[in-house]
Amino acid sequence: MSGDTSAPSGPTILIVEDSELNLKLLNDILEYHGYTILATSLGEAAVELALRHKPDSILLDIQLPDISGLEAARRLKAEEQTRAIPIIALTAFAMQGDEAKVLASGCDVYVAKPFNIAELINMIARYTRQEGRS
Ligand code: MN
Repeated sequence: MSGDTSAPSGPTILIVEDSELNLKLLNDILEYHGYTILATSLGEAAVELALRHKPDSILLDIQLPDISGLEAARRLKAEEQTRAIPIIALTAFAMQGDEAKVLASGCDVYVAKPFNIAELINMIARYTRQEGRS
């Protein structure tokens, strides 16, 4: 996980996930694929981290302990500085049928849990901004 001062290598992804197990899995796999990882389990912190670090994409769990991922997405898309950052929503099985709500909140795409790792990696590669930015 990021937090040190070493130069980031690949694109930066902000992972927002309150399941420790999922977070560790996503962190390890995405790091292995060369991404620089920022992570939080809270929606409020996600908005703050995104504003501060401008990640190249955001992997956003919808069910979070504080504000929902939907609310976090709305706030991110309302901010000039973060509105262009692609958001990949992670939706629980129980939310099937709520895809329209997820997209209406501003998320660019959604992946249903339990996710297939290979598909998720492809999705992230497709949606993450790859060009270097200053
Ligand atoms: Mn959750």
